[in-house]
Amino acid sequence: MFTVAIIGRPNVGKSTLFNRLVGRREAIVHDFPGVTRDRKERKASLLGLEFLVIDTAGLEEAEPDSLAARMSAMTLGSLAQADVVLFLIDARAGVTPMDEHFADVLRKQPTPVVVVANKCEGKAGEPGLLEAYAFGLGEPVGISAEHGTGMGDLLEALLPFA
Ligand code: GDP
Ligand code: MG
Repeated sequence: MFTVAIIGRPNVGKSTLFNRLVGRREAIVHDFPGVTRDRKERKASLLGLEFLVIDTAGLEEAEPDSLAARMSAMTLGSLAQADVVLFLIDARAGVTPMDEHFADVLRKQPTPVVVVANKCEGKAGEPGLLEAYAFGLGEPVGISAEHGTGMGDLLEALLPFA
């Protein structure tokens, strides 16, 4: 079973995507002590493809001024355990400086990255989706975690790592 980590700044929809992927299945929860608190690993399924998904929500509970600490926690923790990283942005908000910080960290580490532009239902996400090409981390996948659109494209992006 391969492992997928969901990362991104607060409020981009990580938990919404996590919940959609995990659904109602029996959860397997591992708490990893150390740099990242309350990291959870659960069995997930996307259109029949099964994998483990890592929730990195604990990163958001760090002190607001400790961005660097959170970055290193992310790098050392969930990325090392993942076969692939879903790097979420909020396509409606567009690319923010904090997204750029995450992209910088992700470019410098070896785990493959899939850029995911969330909140792409309707047309409001289109400019943000196009902006996400500029990360240089490959073709962004437009989804709506809330509405469940783009899941086929997300599956296609994950299949090479399965
Ligand atoms: P997290 O902080 O990255 O875990 O983000 P959450 O999953 O808590 O979502 C933050 C906010 O974005 C919530 O109000 C969600 O309802 C909203 N949200 C999540 N996914 C979508 C989406 O696909 N479209 C829209 N319009 N809102 C979304
Ligand atoms: Mg969350």
